[in-house]
Amino acid sequence: VTDLTKVYKLRKGNFGHEDLTAVDRASFTINRGETMALVGESGSGKSTIAKMVLQLEKPTSGSIRIDGADTTQLGSKQLFDLRRKLQPVFQDPYGSLDPLRNIGNTIMEPLNVHKVGDSASRRARVLELLDQVSLPRELATRYPNELSGGQRQRVAVARGLALKPEILVLDEAVSALDVLVQAQVLELLAELQRDLGLTYLFITHDLAVVRLIADRVCVMRSGEIIEQATTDEVFENPREEYTKNLLAAIP
Ligand code: ATP
Ligand code: MG
Repeated sequence: VTDLTKVYKLRKGNFGHEDLTAVDRASFTINRGETMALVGESGSGKSTIAKMVLQLEKPTSGSIRIDGADTTQLGSKQLFDLRRKLQPVFQDPYGSLDPLRNIGNTIMEPLNVHKVGDSASRRARVLELLDQVSLPRELATRYPNELSGGQRQRVAVARGLALKPEILVLDEAVSALDVLVQAQVLELLAELQRDLGLTYLFITHDLAVVRLIADRVCVMRSGEIIEQATTDEVFENPREEYTKNLLAAIP
């Protein structure tokens, strides 16, 4: 990611428009198999970066290269193909799971969209994915409201894995969970990363979680990355006053 910038045009009634720079010349590199955490307080631009990396928002300027190819220059067919490599896992409560779709069909959806295999092989893949995230196969016929928060988050991970992606963009994927369940889902993510060689862009406002999962950390403030280092460096020797304050707030 190089000099990535997003300026939103905000409507101001009869008074025209105002610009809001949500992301301001952000640059970072994530190596294959690594977890990069993006931290920062609410409104600092973390999700905006996630959306641009996932190609859900167009950058105002700057570039995002994946395996060397600039994703900001791709046509719609190439973007569709890129999505197989790159999957989101959002926080469940903000509507990531459709309440009217059962768990099996939820996990199968990306396979349907990308027309992977026939319906028998899709069903087999769903069961395999349930195993992979340690959920009982019986859950396939249940609905999201019949699951616990931790189980729902595992479903979101299973769906994210359906297309065998290389990169997961996890936006507050464990933030809604209590500490114990959070630790279980983080353990699952770490295991999957080891087994499948996945690369994570891991977004959270919670530095305690960062310590458990991240190799490196970018600290964001008002759209800018103000500090970037290995997790150990950030925790042992933070450079910025802002980062020190964030660390001081960990219980
Ligand atoms: P949180 O921790 O609360 O999720 P965040 O770091 O993810 O915060 P963003 O969602 O990236 O923050 O928002 C960054 C800024 O951009 C905020 O000021 C927000 O109001 C603004 N913003 C986000 N999306 C839009 C949009 N679609 N249109 C206009 N402004 C937006
Ligand atoms: Mg956000």
